[in-house]
Amino acid sequence: LFVAFEGGDGAGKSTQADLLARWLSDRGHEVVRTREPGGTPLGRALRELVLHGEDGSVAPRAEALIFAADRAQHVATVVRPALGRGAVVVTDRYLDSSVAYQGAARELGHDEVRGLSLWAVEDLVPDLTVLLDVEPGQGRDRRGTVHDRLEREDDTFHDRVRQGFLALAAREPDRYLVLDAGGPVEELAEQVRRRVRTLLPG
Ligand code: C5P
Repeated sequence: LFVAFEGGDGAGKSTQADLLARWLSDRGHEVVRTREPGGTPLGRALRELVLHGEDGSVAPRAEALIFAADRAQHVATVVRPALGRGAVVVTDRYLDSSVAYQGAARELGHDEVRGLSLWAVEDLVPDLTVLLDVEPGQGRDRRGTVHDRLEREDDTFHDRVRQGFLALAAREPDRYLVLDAGGPVEELAEQVRRRVRTLLPG
C-alpha cells in the first residue's frame, strides 16, 4: 500500500504522515515513512541545491528536473523495494507536488510536468493521495519563519499551488481524500485512518 500526503506549505502533511505511520505500525504493519524532496542521500543533496542554492536562482525547468531526479532516486531505491516486500509506504509529498508547484505555480504546464514525473517513476502512482487543502494565508501563519526559497514566494504563487492540487484531485476523485487542513489534527487523522482501513489487505 502506497499513501502520499500532499498540500501546500504549512498544511500539516508531516504531522499527519507521522500519525498514520505510527497507527499502522502499532497494528503490526511494516511502515516506511519517507519524504520528498530528500528521501535518499542523493535526494538530500538535490534538496539542498534546489532549496538553498548559493545564488538563489534556479530556472523553472531546472527546478522541475531536479525534483524529478530526486523522485526517480526515491522511487527506485526506497519506495519500490519497500512495496516489493509488502511494506506500507507513507510519503510526505510525491508527484502531485511537482504538478502543483512547477506545473501550475511556475506555469510549466500540468501535462508536461506530470508526464516528466511519471517517466521518472515508471508510472508508479499512490493507492491513496491525501490532499491537505490549505488556504495560502493560513499556511503562511502555520509555517511561521521562512525556511527555503519556495516558501518565500507570495500568496498568489501559493494560491496557484493550491488550485493545482485541487485540479488533480478533481480529475481522479476515487484516488484522493481531500481534507480541510484547518480542521483539528486528531479529527483529520481519524478521517485518514477511516479511508486507509478500506485499503488494507485482509
Ligand atoms: O515539504 P517540504 O518543506 O519538505 O518541501 C520543501 C520545499 O520544496 C517546500 O518549500 C515546497 O514548497 C518545495 N517544493 C517544490 N516543488 C516540489 C516539491 C517541493 O517547490 N515538487
